[in-house]
Amino acid sequence: MADWDEITKAYRDRAREVYDGDILFIDPKDMHGDPNHDYEVFKAAFAEQYPHEDMSRADDPYTSSGIKKILAKIYDVGPIAVRLGDEGCIIVELDEGFSTKEKIISALSRIPEEELKPLPGDDLDYVRHIAAHEAAHCGDERVTVQNLFKTHHLADVLYVETIGDFIADMYAKNSGKEDVSRAWLDARASAAGLDAGHATHLVLDHLYGKVDYHKSAQAAAYFLDRICSHIMAELGFEDVSELVELEKDNPELFMDVVDNLVLQGKFDDDPEIKKAVQDFSRAKRALIDFDKAGNGYEDHNLAVEKAADAYLETQKTAVLDPSVPLPPKF
Ligand SMILES: [Zn+2]
Repeated sequence: MADWDEITKAYRDRAREVYDGDILFIDPKDMHGDPNHDYEVFKAAFAEQYPHEDMSRADDPYTSSGIKKILAKIYDVGPIAVRLGDEGCIIVELDEGFSTKEKIISALSRIPEEELKPLPGDDLDYVRHIAAHEAAHCGDERVTVQNLFKTHHLADVLYVETIGDFIADMYAKNSGKEDVSRAWLDARASAAGLDAGHATHLVLDHLYGKVDYHKSAQAAAYFLDRICSHIMAELGFEDVSELVELEKDNPELFMDVVDNLVLQGKFDDDPEIKKAVQDFSRAKRALIDFDKAGNGYEDHNLAVEKAADAYLETQKTAVLDPSVPLPPKF
């Protein structure tokens, strides 16, 4: 693992390459979640990074109480960018949960680290990818402080996130790191059913065509439901826990069934959904080491019940939900 000085340098350098306004970097490891304490962290970061500037500039056009509200909102959400006025931006840096490429892709894809195949590139390539994504938000007029406190339509979230990943993708390709960008988009595709606002792969793969963000967001929000109902019918499952168990214990078989459904034309009525399903399958196959998957899905134990509950919880949120906050986690 790269040490923290290397991670910090790689992150800041890439962010500054992407965004040419002033960036104030905040180290989440220093934040406590207490607005007064975190405001001191903010002031110390400003004094250290802008030693020749008057502190009043950091507050302007916001008051210290405004800054405290922002800090409370962005506490503990992971890397995030918030524009301050027209020429400034706060970017939260990485913590322990984003210190290796495995942790980063696991956080994005929701695939446990131990199930991942070996990933391309090194840790710092992924650190730079997050930095470019966040710095792209700094240059996006939609990512304002005001919007931080509003709720947004999923399609708007997807638009903003797609810009972020598009810029990150561009920088990765310019550095010869296409494979890192591909792993990143595979992670997005893998978690699309749980986080439709970040299903950027659906757009990026045909960005230069006509893009309907609403359709893409809808496809991301609903394709998993479609997959699940088809698999249950196909395999004669009566309880969703059987489905959850299958995906957990034998993901390769789960994906085989999905691919068969595609071949049978089950998704042909909706090209957006079909694309989401195909991307999901390709991404899982690219990221998961299937050899480590167990066999069988017949034991109904407590763990399965819990997994089923968790699955049902995620399904409640996997719809077009206007209360999705912006900017979201990544
Ligand atoms: Zn983002």
